[in-house]
Amino acid sequence: MEELKCYMPKTLKEALEIKAKVDVIPLAGGSDLMVSHKRTMGLTPVFEKPVMIIRNLPELKRIYRNDKGECCIGAGCTSEEIAENTLCPWHLRQAASRMGAIGLRNSATIAGNIANASPKGDTPGPLYLLDARVKLSSVRGDREELVSDFIVKFRQIDLQPDELITEIIVPYSEDDFDYIFWHKVGTRKANAISKITVSQAIKFNKDDTVADYRVSATATGAKTNRSRDVENIIIGKKITPELTEQVIEAFDKVISPRAMPEFRREATRRMIRRFLSESAKRPKGKVIDTYEGYSVTGAPTPRS
Ligand SMILES: Cc1cc2nc3c(=O)[nH]c(=O)nc-3n(C[C@H](O)[C@H](O)[C@H](O)COP(=O)(O)OP(=O)(O)OC[C@H]3O[C@@H](n4cnc5c(N)ncnc54)[C@H](O)[C@@H]3O)c2cc1C
Repeated sequence: MEELKCYMPKTLKEALEIKAKVDVIPLAGGSDLMVSHKRTMGLTPVFEKPVMIIRNLPELKRIYRNDKGECCIGAGCTSEEIAENTLCPWHLRQAASRMGAIGLRNSATIAGNIANASPKGDTPGPLYLLDARVKLSSVRGDREELVSDFIVKFRQIDLQPDELITEIIVPYSEDDFDYIFWHKVGTRKANAISKITVSQAIKFNKDDTVADYRVSATATGAKTNRSRDVENIIIGKKITPELTEQVIEAFDKVISPRAMPEFRREATRRMIRRFLSESAKRPKGKVIDTYEGYSVTGAPTPRS
């Protein structure tokens, strides 16, 4: 068998120079790649191209606020690092804290989750909801793109051959909303691939009309679903049961779940109905109907 080269750059600059010259597969946590390249038990995975290990590049491990107050998350940050860092938006921390089990959360990175472009991936739901962008870097320079555009379709991303994802920039957080919602339906508490995940957020004007409303759902089509047209149905108006049903009906037309479609549609309808009807009552807390044990601003209780 032909031996393949494995690159282990020490800096981002070095990694980008390699990416510009060689057709390499970037390997971060390896939790998707090692599975997709696995062979039978006892045999090591085989890669068709050289691999470049990028998981320990220091430039990809930072979480900070930029001068606009946006949360910037290094591409190589793991789910555990995101779940534990209160700079990261609440919805994203919930999603990160429910990915796989503890071992996986310590290796799976946010860039790997995005680049995998699975409709069942947990982080794209919150990232779509909060208008997050990916920063893509190459020796030619940097560019930014909305995560929702970067994920083109099932397993397809808008990444040029010489580029790496270097940062995820999230302009909104829970502070921008009055009520927030995140719910993952899985078959187990840990290691559960999403059956469906719904993220929602709402902000009211002083006169009780809706200033902003957002809803996204994963595992409900070829990629994560969100539609500003649907959300606009309720923006500028007071929540009524009739308007809520209009939103539900319109979102139902946006999603296209293949497996268990009626279950996924009904679960989505119920979660939208619950969030809108509960937030219309203007309760004291900020979180509506998430899993027990999660608080608004503290770190989520991890599921081992
Ligand atoms: C047991 C198990 C349970 C899982 N449970 C969940 C779950 O609950 N929820 C969920 O969403 N996912 C889950 N996954 C899937 C997987 O763990 C995630 O998608 C993870 O975030 C992938 O990240 P990684 O760093 O391991 O990616 P890798 O496997 O290293 O890479 C994945 C892809 O991303 C590319 N890539 C990585 N980093 C970059 C970069 N910086 N720039 C460009 N391309 C890059 C790689 O080349 C590759 O194509 C599970 C996987 C396993 C094996």
